[in-house]
Formats: sequence, C-alpha cells, structure tokens
Amino acid sequence: MTLANQIVYFSEREQTFDSIILYMDLDAFFASVEIRENPELEGLPLVVGGNPKTKQGVVSTCSYEARKFGIHSGMPINQALKLCPHLTMVRGSFKLYGEVSKSIMKILEYYSPTMKVAGNDEAYLDLTDVVADYEEAKRLATELKDDVYASEEITCSIGIAPNRILAKIASDSDKPDGLVVVKPLEISEFLAPLNITIIPGVGRKSFEVFSKENVELCGDLAKLPHQLAYQKFGKYGLKTWKLVNGYNTENTGEKFVRHERKSISEERTFFEKYNSWEEIWIRIDSSIDAIVTRLTVKKMSFRTITLKIRFKNFETYTRAHSLTSYNTSPKHVRVVVMKLLEEFEGKKPEDIRLIGVKISNLMKIDDNQKTLTQFFNNIG
Ligand SMILES: [Mg+2]
Repeated sequence: MTLANQIVYFSEREQTFDSIILYMDLDAFFASVEIRENPELEGLPLVVGGNPKTKQGVVSTCSYEARKFGIHSGMPINQALKLCPHLTMVRGSFKLYGEVSKSIMKILEYYSPTMKVAGNDEAYLDLTDVVADYEEAKRLATELKDDVYASEEITCSIGIAPNRILAKIASDSDKPDGLVVVKPLEISEFLAPLNITIIPGVGRKSFEVFSKENVELCGDLAKLPHQLAYQKFGKYGLKTWKLVNGYNTENTGEKFVRHERKSISEERTFFEKYNSWEEIWIRIDSSIDAIVTRLTVKKMSFRTITLKIRFKNFETYTRAHSLTSYNTSPKHVRVVVMKLLEEFEGKKPEDIRLIGVKISNLMKIDDNQKTLTQFFNNIG
C-alpha cells in the first residue's frame, strides 16, 4: 500500500468505537493450579514444564516469583536453572489444567453469548450487547473474577476496551489479579507511559528497531508524524502508530463465535453472611430488577428462568424453569425464582456464597408483535 493510500485509509469512521470487549487471562495458569494443589509451593520460584530429573525441556509456565529472576515461558530449563539455581520444577498435570480450563470457560459463557476462546487460559467476551456502558462492564468483570476464584481458586486479570488488542494490552498492563478499563477517549493517554513491547507483536527485535529512533514508550511513537512512522517502521509501524493514537485498528465483530444461548444474568457473590432468607431475597430481588431493566432496554421477552446457588465448600446447584409462553414481566421471574428456591429451604442462609439469576430463551419483541399483544390484552 502506498503512503497516499494509507493516508486516505485514516477515515474518521475508524475513530468511532462501538464495541465493548473483555479479555480474560488466567494468572500464571499452570503454576497457579500447581500452587492450589500443593499450597507449600506458594511464594516459591516455580516452573511447570521440562523434566525435573534430567533438567531438560522448556518452561511452559512460571510463577511470578520465578519471573523476577528473568525466567519466562519457552525458556530452556537449563537456562532457567542458571538464572535461579534453587528453582522448583514440576512436571505438570496437563489433564487437570484442561479440566480447570474447561470449567472456567463454562463460567465465562454465562457472561456473554459472544465469546472467543484464545487458549487454555485466555478468552475474549464481546459485551457490546450485554452491558449498557463501561461502568456496567466493570461490575460484570468484578463478578466474573469472583466467580472464577470461587470456583477454581485461581486468579485472573481482565482488560476491558473497545477492541480485542486494547483489551489484551489492558489486561497485560496489570497482572496478577488486575482489572483495567480503557474507554475509547482514554486510549492514547492509557498507552502513552507503557513500554512499546506491551503491544502484541512488538518483541525484542522490534524494540531494538524502535529504540534506535528513540521510541521506547507508546507515547514516543504517538508523537511522531505518521509519515515518519511509516518511513521508519513500515506498514506495521503505521498500524501501531494508529493504535497508540487511539484509532480503531480492527473490526472486532468478525472473528467472534456467537454461541446459541442468549441470556441475561446477574450473579452476586456474598462476602458477608446473611442470617435470614429475607436478607438473601433482597439481593435476589435487586438482581431481578437489573435483569429486567436490561431486558426492557433490549426489547426482549424470555421463556426460561435459571437460579444458580452456591453454598460454602463450593456446593453449587443450578435449577431452571421454562414458561409455556414468552414473557416480559419481572413478576413472573420473581414467582419462578421463589419456587426454585423452595428446594433449598432446609439449608442455612448463612452458608450461601453466591446467587445467580439468569433469563434465557430470549426473543426480540418487534412492533407487530407488540401490537398483536396489545390487541389481545385489550380484548382480553
Ligand atoms: Mg495467562
């Protein structure tokens, strides 16, 4: 592409962002699972991968303590041992990692119908149709983090931004256990102080090329005229220049897989104990209100109501009920949830750790349908 074409390519349209993307990355995934299984490993420089006896192979994941020695994934074990002679090595329980990963991805599915699993420890969720704004996205992310921790006792880092690349950068910028939100108008300000290597694809080699031109931080690149960015660093440099200046460089919608289930849900993790069902019900009731508000905004009706309840020791139950016809009333959600709760009457409310309410089997209410419903209501 010629420079002239590239300039034309910066249309204003590209600066409009209409997606909200969440990226979740489990923190030092394999190492975190090993520490969960063997708590005595906590706080040690630890690597998973390679053969502890022969000291051969490569590092597959390392704990944050091991990273302080300069050890990273993909490094040969013998080199890692040179950097940290008292390194603890574990062979890895890959079957278990697979199970943990699967269970976490299932939790994530609960949060958005549009999701892309990018690896065993990372996934993107498209929240555009799920939340009203970035504030709501942040609340959802907090719940998601609590839910992942409550289920699997490992932490994750989350980035929320208008596209995938920025969501990933946001997540990478604060690990472990981070939650970083970057709104469209804050992109260049957020990126400016970060090292240019935070951008996926800018490795050590690219960094050398950039630093020869006194570009080390994203803000340094942003300040160059775009023609210069193109001359010095080529097409990729120009794309990166657009990114650090807050332009949208990708079309987010395309590569997501939209799975069948559409739902709206709310979950509350209880960090304090409630001694009566009345107090629990106040929380459920506010969840129902939040769900129905979102449903009304989206002009949707529902048929299925699901209750999720978790007690101490992670004992979790999911119960669902489908109505015979589509409905829009919060009253129906309340009646069904109360009915589903009856099963747990014998349990102690103070043992409840989480309550989730979900409505699914959604259908868009179009105006014709509304008229027809009104018609029947009027004659009924
Ligand atoms: Mg990870």
